[in-house]
Amino acid sequence: MCKPTVIARKGNIAVTQCVNCKMVNIWNKGVLISFTFSQFSSFVEVTNDLDFDNYLENSPDGVEIVVLATPYPDISLVFTREEWYNFFSALAEATYMQEIYRMVHS
Ligand SMILES: [Zn+2]
Repeated sequence: MCKPTVIARKGNIAVTQCVNCKMVNIWNKGVLISFTFSQFSSFVEVTNDLDFDNYLENSPDGVEIVVLATPYPDISLVFTREEWYNFFSALAEATYMQEIYRMVHS
């Protein structure tokens, strides 16, 4: 049975995990991204050092954004600066919480 636990929350972002399915979900307004535990840690690793300013683009509305590819072809995430900050803070916090859970439950 699914027992999702919230392991991080920042702005509009919430990260939950289910230890039974070994899945991590990132909830961001209308978008829900699901990862296995190992996909999640690879994603965090790959995106860890990305600097918002190095990838700046302008959205159709003229807002400064960064477009980030996901492990799923044809689906990209779009971030404003604040959303970017919240997203990666939430991922860092989630990774930290996973470590804690691992120590407590293994
Ligand atoms: Zn589950």
